Amino acid sequence: MDALIPEELRMLQSTVRQFVENEVLPLETEYQDELPPEIRDPLQARLRELGIWALSVPAEYGGADISTLGMTLVSEEIYKSMLSRNLIGGGVNPLLYNASDYLKEKYLHPVVRGEVKSAGAFSEPNAAGDLGGIETTAERDGDDYILNGTKVWIRGAHEADHVFVLARMKGTQRHIGTTWFIVDAGTPGFEVSRRIPMMGDTTLNELSFTDCVVPAAQRVTAEGGAWEAAQRSLNRARFLIGAEVLGMAERCQAMAMNYSKSRVTFGQPLAERQAVQFMLAESEIEMYATRAMVHEAARRVDLGEDLQREAGMIKVYSTEMAGRVIDRAMQIHGAAGYSKDLVIEQFYRAVRAVRIFEGPNEIHRWRLARNMLRD
Ligand SMILES: Cc1cc2nc3c(=O)[nH]c(=O)nc-3n(C[C@H](O)[C@H](O)[C@H](O)COP(=O)(O)OP(=O)(O)OC[C@H]3O[C@@H](n4cnc5c(N)ncnc54)[C@H](O)[C@@H]3O)c2cc1C
Repeated sequence: MDALIPEELRMLQSTVRQFVENEVLPLETEYQDELPPEIRDPLQARLRELGIWALSVPAEYGGADISTLGMTLVSEEIYKSMLSRNLIGGGVNPLLYNASDYLKEKYLHPVVRGEVKSAGAFSEPNAAGDLGGIETTAERDGDDYILNGTKVWIRGAHEADHVFVLARMKGTQRHIGTTWFIVDAGTPGFEVSRRIPMMGDTTLNELSFTDCVVPAAQRVTAEGGAWEAAQRSLNRARFLIGAEVLGMAERCQAMAMNYSKSRVTFGQPLAERQAVQFMLAESEIEMYATRAMVHEAARRVDLGEDLQREAGMIKVYSTEMAGRVIDRAMQIHGAAGYSKDLVIEQFYRAVRAVRIFEGPNEIHRWRLARNMLRD
């Protein structure tokens, strides 16, 4: 147990752990990857009763206002089941904290209350990891902007009430001129043009904007102010990914430990074989290193440090660590691990995506080395 974790955060972590164990794990025999709305909604209501809602949102906006360290502990527990990973709601796009009162009233408060859903659309067919290359344009027209372009790989947009859209002011290049807007579902000229089935049994969306008229009051950042704002909010997401994949790895490691004690081959439990012991030990060491990195960085962020560099390192290390741990757990389970009888294959598919989103790991490595060499 980490003696540096305050008592109230330990209690929060334990509440979330019990919720996942008692209310979510039993559903894994019936559902895979995602819960249908009729099961998901009552569970979300239960989480709200427990105060596990809008966790990172400041108290002035009605959120739980917990620290980054608290968020990492909750994320670790929630990601022990693929079915609970999308349950915690009320999370606000941090861009709204610096937005106008009009946007706060229209979007921030209803999101915190759980009345509406958001999606975030920055990726495009010709630019996603390299956001300076986005081609969606915004052109001022009196009291409006006209948006044109295509977004792709957008999570949750098919059921979102509004979408944060990154566009560039017409005629600008690279990051100069990139600007965030909010577009409401149903706005003429905006449509979900394709549902894209993905490997992790989830579906992402392609969005198209054709002469889509967006009132100027829906602009979230200053014209050209998107780049700095996006970097700030993405860095926090990268810390949380470290905790999320740690939870995924911990679940699979626990399953591998149990299975290795009960599965007998050639007259001995797998747990007696050094080859299996080494796999378990390797995973434990890597999870320990990840936990130490994530917790230390979260504490420093809570003290006000800007850990952009560390956020990238944690994203790379933790996502690759989880891939290895889950892979070993599958190997220890043999064919059972590869089957849909067990959840390991769900984790195996899901963990593959996290090396790609929130910036592919190669881009983080490249940026880190470039900055190290420049400094
Ligand atoms: C499950 C999932 C959910 C997503 N959700 C969203 C969402 O909600 N909203 C949204 O806007 N986007 C979303 N995305 C998109 C995601 O942000 C992009 O896929 C990601 O940024 C990478 O962009 P890309 O796919 O165009 O890859 P590219 O940028 O084309 O890169 C392809 C590969 O090339 C290599 N590479 C690229 N640049 C470099 C470099 N400089 N140095 C070395 N190697 C490099 C990397 O290996 C990289 O994986 C999601 C993606 C996934 C998989």
